[in-house]
Formats: sequence, C-alpha cells, structure tokens
Amino acid sequence: MENQNSNFIKDIMKKDLESGKHQSIMTRFPPEPNGYLHIGHAKSIILNFGLADEFNGKTNLRFDDTNPAKEDIEFVNSIKEDVKWLGYEWDNLFFASDYFDEMFNRAVLLIKKGLAYVDDLNADEIREYRGTLTEPGKNSPYRDRSIEENLDLFERMRDGEFGNGEKVLRAKIDMASPNINLRDPVIYRIAHVSHHNTGDKWCIYPMYTFAHPLEDAIEGVTHSICTIEFEDQRPFYNWVVEQCEMKEQPQQIEFGRLNLTNTVTSKRKLKQLVDEGYVDGWDDPRMPTISGMRRRGFTPESIRNFIHETAVSKNNATVDFEMLEHFVREDLKLKAPRTMGIINPLKVVITNYPEGQIELLDAENNPENPEMGIRKIPFSREIYIEQEDFMENPPKKYFRLFPGNEVRLKHAYFIKCEEVVKDADGKVVELHCTYDPETKSGSGFTGRKVKGTLHWVEATLAVPAEFRIYEPLILDKTNEDEEGTFLDHINPNSIQVFQGFVEQNMKESRPHEKFQFFRHGYFNVDPKHTTIDKLVFNQIVSLKSSFKL
Ligand code: ATP
Ligand code: MG
Repeated sequence: MENQNSNFIKDIMKKDLESGKHQSIMTRFPPEPNGYLHIGHAKSIILNFGLADEFNGKTNLRFDDTNPAKEDIEFVNSIKEDVKWLGYEWDNLFFASDYFDEMFNRAVLLIKKGLAYVDDLNADEIREYRGTLTEPGKNSPYRDRSIEENLDLFERMRDGEFGNGEKVLRAKIDMASPNINLRDPVIYRIAHVSHHNTGDKWCIYPMYTFAHPLEDAIEGVTHSICTIEFEDQRPFYNWVVEQCEMKEQPQQIEFGRLNLTNTVTSKRKLKQLVDEGYVDGWDDPRMPTISGMRRRGFTPESIRNFIHETAVSKNNATVDFEMLEHFVREDLKLKAPRTMGIINPLKVVITNYPEGQIELLDAENNPENPEMGIRKIPFSREIYIEQEDFMENPPKKYFRLFPGNEVRLKHAYFIKCEEVVKDADGKVVELHCTYDPETKSGSGFTGRKVKGTLHWVEATLAVPAEFRIYEPLILDKTNEDEEGTFLDHINPNSIQVFQGFVEQNMKESRPHEKFQFFRHGYFNVDPKHTTIDKLVFNQIVSLKSSFKL
C-alpha cells in the first residue's frame, strides 16, 4: 500500500527504532462502538495501520467498550467491515472489556499504595470541589479514608451494594495541580447496566481515561496515537501506566482531528441525523461515514490518497469536501467505463430512419484508457435525449437542440430538429428529427460542422433506471464547533431522484459497479435499493470541479 508522506509521528517511530527504545512498532485503532466510523476515523485508521505497516509492525483493532449504555454489537460489526474495506487487517481483535478483571486489580493496587480512594461526593459536588483554571480545588472530606476502608468499600461497590452515583473511586493525586485532569480524577463509577460483552458481571465500570492507558500497556502498544483533545490527559495517562506498575510503557502522541466542510464529523451529530430521520441510515450516501461513502461509490484508494494528502499536525483542520471529491475523480478516471444515461428523458423520433431497423454502433469504453476496449450500442428510429438538451426558444449561444438546429449524437449521427410535439397542456412530449446517414461517427465526415454534442439512449432497448443526485448535506462550510446549530443548515435539496434510462448493455450491472455517464459524472450501482427489476444509481461525483490541489 501507499507510503505516507513524512510526518512527525513517523519521525518519532523511526527514532525509537534507531535508538533501540523499541524493537518493533505496535499501534492500535481504538474506536468506541457507539456509532459508525466516519472520514475522521479513516485518518486515525490510516495513521495507525499505515505507519505500523511501513515499519513492519503490528496493529490491533480494539473496541473501547467501557461505557456500556451507548454501545451496540451493530456498531462492532460495521466497524470491522469498514476497517477491512479501507484495506487494513488487524493483528489482534480485542475488547477493552476483556481486561475488566485486570483493570479492577490495578485499581486495587492503587488503593493499596494509598493512591486511590472511594468518594461519597456526588457528581455536582465533585465538580464544585474541583476548582477552576485559576483556582485550586479542595480536598474531598472522604479523601483520607484508610486503605482498609477503601478496599472494603471498593469491593462492596463491585458487589452491587450501592446505587448508581452513590460512590466513585478516585485517583489520589493533587487537588491543587495546575492541570485539572490531575485533581483526583474519577477512575471507576457505578452503573447498574448490562454490558454487550460481559453481561451482568460488572456494575462498576472504569473511566475511559483510566482504562485507555492500561489497555495500551497490556497490549504492548508502543505508540498510542490519539486526537489532540487528549493532550492535557497525557500526564494522567503516564501516571496510570507508572503507578499501576505496568511492564510496558506506551507513549501517547496526539494529532489534530480531520473535519470536512459541508458535513459533520461527530458521531453524536451523525447519530442525531439518523435517529431523527434526516437521512436513510448511517450508510446514507450523503453521510461522511465510511459506509455512506462506500454506498455513494467512493473507493478505498481515493479515501486513502485523500488522507495522505492531509497534513498530520497538532492542529484540528477542516478540509474542503471538494478535495476528497478530487481524489475520487482521479481514482475513477481510468477505472470506470464511460457510458450514456438519460436522467430526464425526452423522446426523439428520427422520421427518416427505417422503421424496425436497429444498427449497432461502436463506442469507446474509456478514451483515456484504450485498454478498456469498445462496446456496441444500439441505434434506431427512437431514442431518448435529456429534456434540458432541447429548448423551443433558446437564448443566444445555445448549441443544443432547437427547431431547425442540427447537433451531433455522440457515437452516432447528426440529427436536425424538424417538429415539436406537445400535449394538451402545451408541454413538449416528443421531437421529430431527421438524421443524415453521411455523418456517421467514425466515417471521417467533414462536410459541415455542428457545435453541440448530445448523449442519448436507444429507446426500445433502454433499461429504466433511477438516478439519485446528491448535494452537500449541510449548507454551511463548517459546523463543527457550534452546538446544535447544524440542524438549521441542512440542505433541503441534498437528494434529488429521477427516473430515466441507461444503455441496454448495463442491464446486468451489479451493486457497486461504477460508471462514468457522459456529461453527468460518476455513478455507483446502489447496493441497498437495486433489485433484479430496478437499477438505482448514486451519483458519486460530478465531472467538473473548481478544486485545485
Ligand atoms: P466522535 O467525536 O466522532 O464520537 P471519537 O473520538 O469519540 O469521535 P472514537 O470511537 O473514540 O471516536 O475514535 C476512535 C479513534 O479515532 C480515536 O483514536 C479518535 O481520536 C480517532 N478520531 C475520531 N474522530 C477523528 C477525527 N475527526 N479525526 C481524526 N481522528 C479521529
Ligand atoms: Mg469517543
């Protein structure tokens, strides 16, 4: 797979191997199974798996399932599928909950060392006692419980003697620390809820900030790559590894989050879009989820190439969605066969073409990739063109079809509009044209020139198809930092559905086959709604972009 550009994390790994600090690299990708993965996670996946690969190291997929209330097996399965689809294989699959016994024992060790205590303050009180950025905190009145009492209470917490929130276990560090995260952080809480992996075995669960360093250390992770908001947690991460006397000492390294314009990349917000019915599930093609992008027709290669182009830095960055689209076009350009599809059909009868005759014309499958060969497409007296390619009263510089005008049909002949047929309401329902047999494509005809070239499909053999055209889900360029407001910026036209036709030879198209439709851009056969009787195409991306790399 592609190598990543050099970046500061890669430099650290290289140095650690050269100095002998580590013999090999071990990373992990640690999603919480409380939603589907999105483009931001792809960056983390590519860093963790990609960098380890480059150094012949190993990467674990680890589900950080320490918060039972929000987690679900559906998410576990989707995450596995998405990581594989992006092109990566994990060396081991772990669940943080596999380590609950060990975590409990490490917490007991802290108590025995006088470094943890059971606190009866409630959540509000704990917050009050914590102090602020400018003021130190106050010690809890329960801070000086004896080791024996703490051991006894912690065991009784585990045995279910107390209700949710009645007690917590806290690390005993320093209530005056300038780093608020070191002011006796909570490390265990009571939650009487079943867990998808451990069932009802536990009613106390470790806090993420306590669990995570232990998980990394247990697995022998050398470089624990995480997003920048955990920078202030690093001292506590190191404290846990050291005070819990873990054999291996992982190094936490933070990098800036990747966000995209015109969408949201927070599981909470994506979940809201799903739960409140703004989209058709987590894999809706408008979603920036891996599964949504897959259904839309983005390829793993294009996502990887895009991510490699984004900087690895300490700052969160919001990248233009168009940059991602640029890499999708680049990847599909040579791979996707060209074809013709009519999204908004208008029937054309070629009055001087023999009735009942069908001829087969040659069409290149991809002029930019001649190896893809040619196909035969039928032509006859009846075809469909796009409604927008005809105007009865055109403005100046309109080169498509209008009464008396002649245009070229791609791969076929010149046709001239002779007559417009309307229904009772005056709506144009059919055009009568004539064709000139001399002008056949490939015949070398030079007699006269026309300015417009239209795409078309032969009508009697055309295959009905549904086209779904997408616009950005969110109209605002960036919504990441504003709470709640993103729903006000939802694009009411983010999906438009059309019933049209595609070439006969596409009848057997399979889900996820990708095509470039002449003038309309790239499309993917939708895996969810395509049936034996009906083809559904998702527009992946249009042909044109203003984006420059
Ligand atoms: P969200 O805020 O969307 O819920 P999260 O950070 O809570 O994301 P996790 O499941 O905990 O989601 O993430 C797994 C890994 O992916 C973490 O290491 C996290 O830092 C990383 N990650 C999540 N979002 C992004 C992002 N936008 N850019 C880069 N990495 C990310
Ligand atoms: Mg999280």
